[in-house]
Amino acid sequence: MNVVHKYGGSSVATIEKIKAVAQRVAEVKRSGSNIAVVASAMGKTTNELIALASQLGEDLPPREMDSLLSTGEQKTVTLLAMALSALGVPAVSLTGFQGGFVTNQNFRHAKIKDIRIEAVQKYIDAGYVPVLAGFQGIDEEGNITTLGRGGSDTTAVALAAKLGWDCEIYTDVDGVYTVDPRRCPGAKKLATVTSDEMMEMASLGAGVLETRSVELAKKYGVRLYLGQSLEPDHTKGTYIMDQMNFEEMPVTGISIREDCCMVTARGLQAGGAPVNALFSVIAALDINVDMISQQMGADGSCILTFSCSEEAAKTLLEQAPQRGFASPLELQPGLCKLSLVGAGMVTHSGIAGKAFAVLQEANVPYYQITTSEISISLTIDAQNAERAIAALAAAFDLCEEEEA
Ligand code: ADP
Ligand code: ASP
Ligand code: MG
Repeated sequence: MNVVHKYGGSSVATIEKIKAVAQRVAEVKRSGSNIAVVASAMGKTTNELIALASQLGEDLPPREMDSLLSTGEQKTVTLLAMALSALGVPAVSLTGFQGGFVTNQNFRHAKIKDIRIEAVQKYIDAGYVPVLAGFQGIDEEGNITTLGRGGSDTTAVALAAKLGWDCEIYTDVDGVYTVDPRRCPGAKKLATVTSDEMMEMASLGAGVLETRSVELAKKYGVRLYLGQSLEPDHTKGTYIMDQMNFEEMPVTGISIREDCCMVTARGLQAGGAPVNALFSVIAALDINVDMISQQMGADGSCILTFSCSEEAAKTLLEQAPQRGFASPLELQPGLCKLSLVGAGMVTHSGIAGKAFAVLQEANVPYYQITTSEISISLTIDAQNAERAIAALAAAFDLCEEEEA
């Protein structure tokens, strides 16, 4: 079996950990499999690089930021390739450029257009383990680009798709859980999760896998597995697969998205012009909005509400009047978004009602509500998050029962 292994930042945070990863990769290689490795920057390197650059001010040139951020991964892969060589395993480190990862020019959020696989293939054919820097590529003009936070998962799955290999993502948790185990200690580990559920959980805040990587795995039929670094036993981790459980649970997991601020504009005139004006400002400021809702009054005026990050909301409040939107905006900061996700919602009814009842019982007020086919999201005060998560997890059978 040929496989791409991906090791996240915490798995390669120190030289000792890099040596341990090299041992594990060497074992796989010696067992007769072909293996390619994708690695992230060591520990919190990417955050540190961002903090370093931000000392130079705001509005930093994205091209330079991407060159800077790419150095994190470049450091890891050279060390890992040297650690493998020291174990007698021929290995070669490759940056995104050297590995043929061609992207568009959308710095900080670039998309992979093509993988020119020749260089990687040449090394594989010659018996080497290629060790690729995750999260980075190069545009057609030769600029270094990065794929967005958490993008090494995408590098790994894209490489596996191109090679037709399996992809195993190794991280600091031993599988995908119903809820982030850091937020809900009793959360249950999932042996399998469908790609649709995983994509929904990831896009709604479960940072354990990057959303695009799951999407790519589904699109190209890559067998995707997530497990704890150095644990070879695959019964312990989670397979992300398309096969549905025969009688699945209505709710598979809960995702949490922090840093949510509700923005409300009242008394907007009918006809859509003020709403258009507001959204042009939002687009010009490159603000990501979510959970948009509109309520029409009897006089035809409307109340528009949406959520975004607190920082974005403050920028909007400051910039809107000078950019042509004069109506007042009300901010409600300090919120977070909880999302119940489950493919079974398509066939089970009453999930929303049950969630509302559970929150009322737990004395947690909720504000905006949005739904998709397989999720229900609501905003609550961040200070109530742990209580709400515990109550919902218990009600939907997502956590182990506490021992008496
Ligand atoms: P890596 O650096 O290896 O890519 P990440 O920090 O990106 O690791 O992802 C692993 C983290 O994801 C875990 O430490 C865990 O706190 C978090 N996480 C969020 N939601 C979940 C979930 N549903 N199941 C497991 N882990 C989760
Ligand atoms: N190092 C990058 C980040 O921290 C990419 C990754 O780890 O996947 O976002
Ligand atoms: Mg990650």
